Amino acid sequence: MYNPKSMKAEEFIDHAEVLDTLAYADAHKDDLALVDQILDKARQRKGLSHREASVLLACDDPQKTQEIYDLAHQIKKDFYGNRIVMFAPLYLSNYCVNGCVYCPYHAKNKHIARKKLTQEDIRREVIALQDMGHKRLAIEAGEDPVNNPIEYILECIKTIYSIKHKNGAIRRVNVNIAATTVENYRKLKEAGIGTYILFQETYHKESYEKLHPTGPKHNYAYHTEAMDRAMQGGIDDVGLGVLFGLELYKYEFAALLMHAEHLEAVFGVGPHTISVPRIKRADDIDPDVFDNGINDDIFAKLVACIRISVPYTGMIISTRESKACRERVLPLGISQISGASRTSVGGYCEPEPEDERSEQFDVSDNRTLDEVVRWLMELGYIPSFCTACYREGRTGDRFMALCKNMQIQNCCHPNALMTLKEYLDDYASPETRAVGDRLIQSEIGNVPNEKTRRILCERLQQIDAGQRDFRF
Ligand code: SAM
Repeated sequence: MYNPKSMKAEEFIDHAEVLDTLAYADAHKDDLALVDQILDKARQRKGLSHREASVLLACDDPQKTQEIYDLAHQIKKDFYGNRIVMFAPLYLSNYCVNGCVYCPYHAKNKHIARKKLTQEDIRREVIALQDMGHKRLAIEAGEDPVNNPIEYILECIKTIYSIKHKNGAIRRVNVNIAATTVENYRKLKEAGIGTYILFQETYHKESYEKLHPTGPKHNYAYHTEAMDRAMQGGIDDVGLGVLFGLELYKYEFAALLMHAEHLEAVFGVGPHTISVPRIKRADDIDPDVFDNGINDDIFAKLVACIRISVPYTGMIISTRESKACRERVLPLGISQISGASRTSVGGYCEPEPEDERSEQFDVSDNRTLDEVVRWLMELGYIPSFCTACYREGRTGDRFMALCKNMQIQNCCHPNALMTLKEYLDDYASPETRAVGDRLIQSEIGNVPNEKTRRILCERLQQIDAGQRDFRF
């Protein structure tokens, strides 16, 4: 029975409620008066319920779809301005005991090279990432209690935070590892992680069990209830996601929003981020085998509908998507992107020989970070390397309060400009630096508070003089 406050996966993601929602959405998708009413509610920027949002996703009236895009664009601008936060994944180990049928790490895959970084390897990888200009990482690992126990992950986090190479520093480590216990989440919190990210893959229980036939990940309830345990362990920034292509996207969309509603109902704070990965080709994996692949039009609509349904939740898009696709969805709601990613274990230091490949999937955007940063700026975005909220303790509901009070423009905007300035001075090519310096000059005037603007100008000069790590 559906109950958003329940701690049982099958009650807060109640299958019957999802089916009922889809039937309701289908029955009302041409009711343009209702669609208008829902759009009006979304315009108040307080979000939408999974039912309301599902009607918008189902509605295929071209004019209404355009209105959804316009509103998503406006909400994106109101809440996130033109900032795009940059990050990179760091693969620690691809040892895995699970049998996920879409993932090349599955235990039966005997031809993928199995690798695990030593602390010395991590030093080299992190220095390579710092030398590109990255300040924020998402660490990734397969699930393997023997090869990748929590102690290993904790040691890696400690190593990552300890490395200070030239002006480089990793200031926020987000973690994408398999569902674990409250006790382990507490340890991750104590290690100073940013967001705990865990993709649900699919919310459809029956499909989930087929797609995860063996290993601890087979347990749907344990996986689906992981965010509750993370919150109980003190992690208040959690990142949701669905692997689009595995199940029907309308089902996943409704259930994803139900998951967000559940977190809000139980803990008073929704997800910090939502990721929208699509399944990709990989060693031993042919994405065409999965029947539910979505095209770029549906993908764009999904992004826009998520944006207007959960305006306070950041949205992440990775290098699984091409430059063109990223360009299309950026204005529809994306607030974080990865750049220059390697999905192989140890891939930042040196390219892997053909017979020793360890990647998790093919990336579609192979540009360098410098190219991605310049491209964003040429599109009018401010690439941001900011990690201030996390470091000032503005996580969970304190971060949401900042968003809700609309103080972002006096806080995130100058922080973005200062961290971009650091990037330009330390890592950018001369062309990128020229574009960036012009952008910063033209953006200073967009900081509303006069005092903040003055301090920002002083700090930009101090950065030019060699000082680092300022934040509001
Ligand atoms: N092992 C961890 C777990 O069980 O959640 C998570 C880390 S895994 C390195 C990160 C994510 O990559 C997975 O949650 C999955 O959604 C995604 N992934 C796996 N295979 C993929 C593929 N072929 N294409 C795109 N994404 C994939």
